[in-house]
Amino acid sequence: MRKIDFIVIHCTATPQDTPPEAIQQYWIVYLKWKSPGYHYLIDKSGTVLQLAAEDRICNGVAGYNASSIHVSYIGGVDANNKPIDNRTIAQQETMRILVSRLKQQYPKAQIQGHRDFPFVKKACPCFDARKEFSDL
Ligand SMILES: [Zn+2]
Repeated sequence: MRKIDFIVIHCTATPQDTPPEAIQQYWIVYLKWKSPGYHYLIDKSGTVLQLAAEDRICNGVAGYNASSIHVSYIGGVDANNKPIDNRTIAQQETMRILVSRLKQQYPKAQIQGHRDFPFVKKACPCFDARKEFSDL
């Protein structure tokens, strides 16, 4: 088992209807990544897709991936590509269930957003994940 220090919350920074396959293709074809960006992806309907086993290292936050589990929702930009928390109720509900389960599994892990890491200049995930999950 890996030691997990962080449960990291992301958005895909894509339109809410973006197919998961398109996101995965972007990683493989454009970024030449050998691992996915996230372990879990939550679509607009609240369905969770597991893209990698939790033991595998994903490419969510440079420098912290070895000890992180990454969770993302599809969305996070408005029609003008500006950052926005546009999670559906279903996405919010699913995310809370998933993050709660992960926190139980990795009780020492901190839950935080991508933007909460040092030197990150992104809005990702477009909401205060520390605050939202502070009760977990
Ligand atoms: Zn991110």
